[in-house]
Amino acid sequence: FKLPAIDNEPMYSYAPSSVERQKLQAAVEEMRAQAPFEVPVVINGERIFTGKTEKQVNPSEHKQVLCTFHQADAALTQKAIDGALAARDRWEALPFNERAAVFLKAADLLSTKYRYKLMAATMLGQGKNIWQAEIDTAAELADFFRFNCKYAEEMYHQQPPKNAPGVWNRVEYRALDGFVYAVTPFNFTAIAGNLPGAPALMGNVVVWKPSLMAVYSNYLVFQLLEEAGLPAGVIQFIPGPAIEITETVLASPDFSSLHFTGSTQVFRTLWKNIANNIDNFKSYPRIVGETGGKNYHMLHPDLESSDLKHAALQTIRGAFEYQGQKCSATSRVYVPKALAAEYKSYLVQEHAKITQGPVHEFQHFSGPVISQVSFDKIKSYIDYAASAEDCEILAGGKYDDSVGYYVQPTVIATTNPKTKTMVEEIFGPVVTVYEYEGSFEETCKLIGETTEYALTGALFAHNRENIVMGTNLLRHTAGNFYVNDKSTGAVVGQQPFGGGRASGTNDKAGSLTLLTRFVSTRSIKENF
Ligand code: GLU
Repeated sequence: FKLPAIDNEPMYSYAPSSVERQKLQAAVEEMRAQAPFEVPVVINGERIFTGKTEKQVNPSEHKQVLCTFHQADAALTQKAIDGALAARDRWEALPFNERAAVFLKAADLLSTKYRYKLMAATMLGQGKNIWQAEIDTAAELADFFRFNCKYAEEMYHQQPPKNAPGVWNRVEYRALDGFVYAVTPFNFTAIAGNLPGAPALMGNVVVWKPSLMAVYSNYLVFQLLEEAGLPAGVIQFIPGPAIEITETVLASPDFSSLHFTGSTQVFRTLWKNIANNIDNFKSYPRIVGETGGKNYHMLHPDLESSDLKHAALQTIRGAFEYQGQKCSATSRVYVPKALAAEYKSYLVQEHAKITQGPVHEFQHFSGPVISQVSFDKIKSYIDYAASAEDCEILAGGKYDDSVGYYVQPTVIATTNPKTKTMVEEIFGPVVTVYEYEGSFEETCKLIGETTEYALTGALFAHNRENIVMGTNLLRHTAGNFYVNDKSTGAVVGQQPFGGGRASGTNDKAGSLTLLTRFVSTRSIKENF
């Protein structure tokens, strides 16, 4: 039988007097009043309070502890692996539709019972404003769960087109022969849910190490999956020290895949460690990762005033929504010299409208960055721009970590296309604008040569021929390419997401391609 029809989760606008806004406000206030929460390690469905605790603070006001979480060590990681492997045969043997039902139910729970709670946890724990939390937890996570089911259903129906007389050929989409290790980031609760969720849907068991900066929302996602009927042991929830957990995982012969989102540097280290252990594994591990970015907006000289205004607004949104803490955030802009003054004036106008403050106040476009480490790193780039001869701070440039980790959205103008802030990933609310004097073609080439990344990018152009030319010239500079739109905001089921080069393996979250990485096909030929 076929799975029910699906669609993108409808999003609310949270208009000031709306019921949704009141409900969300109530959930946020309740969570602030009840924090800190205590989060255990969960192995085989059992809550384990190890006593080795760490804290996750609210980045809007870092004195507030959102949760105290218990951490796994090497022995518990081993227990998680053993338990997952013990759960594996029964989970894999469950018909696909039944596994899918767990995720479809989880998506429904997410859009109803868990919606406000999970949004509140993402707001207070990860510093997202209402709309960013809605896009992430309510919409994207539910979309991942539902669209994965649809993509997988398509795949399971794909069978060899030909049978010789008296022969029945078929393929069986088996789970991988071992367990999957999911290492998830702080910046999207949806990605945290998809990294263990997608392989589990395909019949795999998963050891999940959440980001220590997002433990509370991630634990709620885990609980949601349990409530939706996920059997114990299929996903093991083990927050803890990355190195100790990873060493134990990679010492297991049954390690069969890494599903990762995070920094390029960590991904490369993990890849090397996997390679070093290759003789120990039963199978060649599937390595799937989405990593850094240095995403661009390229403006064509043919833009008219209204186009320029639009481009400036898209830059403000792409660079500063969620404080630029998206892998896809806009962080370098190429504007032709003749249009630069006008474009920059629109940027400054739009920038002046931005307000910043704690996310529980509900009205701010901009909130805090995630942590002290992040604050310090971003600050060092702003300090660099403030003193570099080839840079000028056009807007923003201040920071203050006395109450929360606040960095003003900052626009830098530069005369040097290779200045540090044009080249390195900052992962914060900083965008650098370079005025190009060379030709459009030369500048497209420069975009590709400036960084090692190729995650997202956008072309702003008016004339159709120029759109075509730019799209071709920029072919390998981005896995998600936008025309006359910002470089962020891929929607599941509409723009599969991921990049190449140093930005990842480009297996595209929210697509069939991703799911195929977590199956190992068996061909079966039977003579009648
Ligand atoms: N999918 C998100 C977007 O298109 C970015 C995901 C990420 O930051 O890893 O904006």
